[in-house]
Amino acid sequence: MASRYHRIVLKISGEGFCRDGGNGLDLAALAGIAEQIAQVARGGVQVAVVIGGGNFVRGQTLAASGQIQRATADYMGMLATVMNAMALQDTLESLGQATRVASALPVIQVCEPFIRRKVMHHLEKGMVVVLAAGVGSPFFTTDTCAALRATELHAEVLLKATKVDGVYESDPGRNPAARCFKRLTYRQVITDNLRVMDLTAVSLAMESNIPIVVFNLKTRDNISRAAAGEPIGTLICGEGRETSQVKDKK
Ligand code: UDP
Repeated sequence: MASRYHRIVLKISGEGFCRDGGNGLDLAALAGIAEQIAQVARGGVQVAVVIGGGNFVRGQTLAASGQIQRATADYMGMLATVMNAMALQDTLESLGQATRVASALPVIQVCEPFIRRKVMHHLEKGMVVVLAAGVGSPFFTTDTCAALRATELHAEVLLKATKVDGVYESDPGRNPAARCFKRLTYRQVITDNLRVMDLTAVSLAMESNIPIVVFNLKTRDNISRAAAGEPIGTLICGEGRETSQVKDKK
């Protein structure tokens, strides 16, 4: 399938790596994701993957009781993303796809530190680069990291893989009748508090004018389809882009 993108940032939450409602690693889920990423990279698209860690630790949840400080819990969450990145790297390499892990927290025995120019070089060589440890600071999320990396690596799009089909008018888990938006502007996401990503992430994408595509990771071939520029999920973009259909619901 021909792609309209040259370079993408793909954000995968930790929950994509475990069974629904579970935690840890589900090897079959991991293999399914890796196969699609390898297929996209083989098609000539440069792929940087920002990986979450919620299948092991979410800082806010772990710190809720007060026993563990929020900053400590957040560093633990970042280390969790390193574990996911290592698992994804080995799985991609078992499929023959050369892969590097670049971490914002140095863990030099297992991966390289994040150095922007080095990552660009790896991408240009056709390697998949898995970006671990978020931005390297507590009180941030891997979604914000994805918007930041998409900006600094000059990606054309941020693909956010989730467990639902796109951005809904209300939580589809609680309201099965909730409709899914086809397109939204950054401003609508912010002012309507649509909670698809944290506000820092959406604001950064808006400032950089990087379109975000939110789509369902569990639907077969969706990573490949999103990377090929097919109109799946919800597109979040600026006012000037395809405005006539902004906020159409499906
Ligand atoms: N985290 C952080 N700084 C970052 C990125 C992540 O402190 O720049 C921590 C935070 O505790 C977060 C956890 O790592 O809850 C896992 O990341 P995230 O919740 O974004 O993962 P996902 O929900 O996408 O699996």
